[in-house]
Parts: sequence; C-alpha cells; structure tokens
Amino acid sequence: MIIDTHAHTNFKAFENDREEIIKECLNNQTFMVNIGTNIITSIKAIELAQKYENVWATVGLHPIHLATNLQEDEDEDGTDEKDFDYQKYKELAQNRKVVAIGEMGLDYYYIPQNEQEKTQAQASQTKLLLQELELAKELKKACILHCRMAYNELLDLLRANTQLAPERAVLHCFMANLDQLKQFLDLGFFIGYNGIIFKQIPGINFEELIKATPNERIVLETDCPYLIHPSKKGQRNTPMGVLDVLNEIARIKQKDPEELVQIYNNNAKRLFGIEF
Ligand SMILES: [Zn+2]
Repeated sequence: MIIDTHAHTNFKAFENDREEIIKECLNNQTFMVNIGTNIITSIKAIELAQKYENVWATVGLHPIHLATNLQEDEDEDGTDEKDFDYQKYKELAQNRKVVAIGEMGLDYYYIPQNEQEKTQAQASQTKLLLQELELAKELKKACILHCRMAYNELLDLLRANTQLAPERAVLHCFMANLDQLKQFLDLGFFIGYNGIIFKQIPGINFEELIKATPNERIVLETDCPYLIHPSKKGQRNTPMGVLDVLNEIARIKQKDPEELVQIYNNNAKRLFGIEF
C-alpha cells in the first residue's frame, strides 16, 4: 500500500468520475489525504473522508484564495474568501477524519507589482497564515504548508512566531534550495515531493535535494489533478500518480521502492497521527 499525502480529488476536475477514481485507488491500495483550499473544497474533502475508509481530509484557506482581486483561478474551485472565518474552520476541523489544517502558507507568485498593494497583499497572507497556525495549535492538528517564491519569508515568519511553530508539519511541493531545505529540516518539517521533481526548474536541483533529504522526513504526494508524470502529459493526475514519484525517488536514492514506501508510509502516519 501507498498513501498520497496531498491530493485534490475534492476539486472540480474530478466532478464527473470522482467516486470511480477514489474506488479505483482504494482497490489498488492507494490511500489519500484530500486537501482543502477554501470552505467549499474543505467541506468536499470531509464528505469524501466520511464516505471512505483510508481517505482523510484537511481544512484550510490557501493564500491564493484570500480575496485580493488578483488571484488566478488556479484550481477552478476558486471561491475567494475575504477573511479567515476561524470559527467556521474550527467547526469543520473537529471532524475526526480531518487530520491537518491547510494548505496554508505564503504565495508571492500572484503578488501585485505596485509597491503599496504588494505590501498589503503580503501582510494579509502573513495574517492569514498566523491564524491557521493558531488553529492547528489549538486543535493539535498537523499543518500542510504551501510556499511559492517566499521560502525565506516563511522561515523568518516561523522563527519570529515560535509560540505558533507547528509540532507536526509538512512543506508540500518542495522546491527551495539546499540551504533552505536544511533550515526546514532543522525546524522538524517533513518534506513533500510530487511530480514537480520531473520538471526542469532554473536554480533547483531535485536530485541533490532528494539525496539531502533523510528518508525519515520524506512524504509522497501528487497534488493531483496537477503535476502528472511527463510520459502522460496532458492527462489529469490522480492519487495513483504517487507511484511515479516513489519510483523516481527510489532511482535517485538507489534504493528498492518496496523498502522506501514502508518508511514513507510510516512518516505519513506520524505526520497525521493516523493508522492504516
Ligand atoms: Zn495542493
């Protein structure tokens, strides 16, 4: 068995065949955690988790869904929210199948160019992230961190707010540099790798990063429907794509995937406090 620690079968991309896909995954011993990005996708993630054993959910507000009139509608489930409704998310998070808060984080990709708007947007994201970290702390849930073009800012924020530092957290879709990797490892983070490792990204050496990440800190993910293996370009990714990520990491680490998957499953169990 294997677990996709970051799936979005709760997204609209799976509207027409969601149940079949999930059943197919489960029949193939591929378990999953569906990640919420706003109220709508968080509720959907919970619905699915309640329906299926070995499917879990998270609830959270992704920084790109914080209304600033700028966001691209990246996941087509893009109902933006003006503020973080702490009570509402808290209520949702109390469901026993909710294993984490997030995805939360900093995303400077869509940040405005105008200096004043930029400062404002960054401040709103910071405020949102602190609220979500607080919720995770209050409910003793794990944290799913998303970060784009703001790794140093995220490190600074975590160090400046040690009272909110998560006890169990993953930095998903990892694509920072080696030095930043070391700093996140020092903070106790798990590192989530997905199909982004198949891409050529200037300044990022995934082989080097993966070699430098201890096996005890790696969790596997897909971020489906995105980031499919290049051999299936143009198709929609599903949680089954997690096998491609495992095989690539096994190739880089020169280890047997069967052996690695045991370790990575155990990491996911520790991160989320679940059994399977
Ligand atoms: Zn995601």
